[in-house]
Amino acid sequence: MEIIVASQNSHKIDEMSAKFGSSNGIFFLPMNKLPDYPKDIIENGTTFEENAIIKAQAILPFTDKAIIADDSGLVVDALNGEPGIYSARYKGCKDDTEKNRIILDAMTDVPDEKRTAHFICVLAYLDTDWNLHTFTGICAGLIHTTLDGSNGFGYDPIFYLPEYRTTMADILPEEKNRISHRALALDKFHNFLNH
Ligand code: IMP
Repeated sequence: MEIIVASQNSHKIDEMSAKFGSSNGIFFLPMNKLPDYPKDIIENGTTFEENAIIKAQAILPFTDKAIIADDSGLVVDALNGEPGIYSARYKGCKDDTEKNRIILDAMTDVPDEKRTAHFICVLAYLDTDWNLHTFTGICAGLIHTTLDGSNGFGYDPIFYLPEYRTTMADILPEEKNRISHRALALDKFHNFLNH
């Protein structure tokens, strides 16, 4: 079965494909493999779930295959939940390193015990009959004091995992694909498809 991914983020698509492997007969295809696809999806929802659904529904006119969309981001408690749904373009900034620096700078005076944060991923799945299902995964951690590690993407270099004593960007991709917010949401999706 081919599932169109309502994203052009190759990291997300790689993580989805790695999680499922090819043995399941499920292939994730980025939306830009379609003859036509929406170039600019306006994510004007107020929650991750709303935005995931908006992205999935935006692909409906362009395919009769099943569709999956991922809306995800970082929620930092000491920043009142920011960057939250604005994770992709925080404070008008798209560059990952700059976004990480903005967060570290805003948190220079925040003590260790108040540096709690979580990643969240909501997957919205539209099957070929247009039935909608959503799956949520959450991964808790802390905001580190520097950038560390070169794996992953986005906020991974500042997301500290106490149980690994390092950041999400410093653990192996296979390990991220076991514990991350996206991995946990994909586990739920996988179980759903198998029942
Ligand atoms: P979206 O593409 O609108 O869902 O925005 C997601 C943004 O959240 C990305 O641009 C990243 O900055 C961040 N993000 C989502 N998932 C991850 C992850 O697994 N690691 C690090 N950052 C992530």
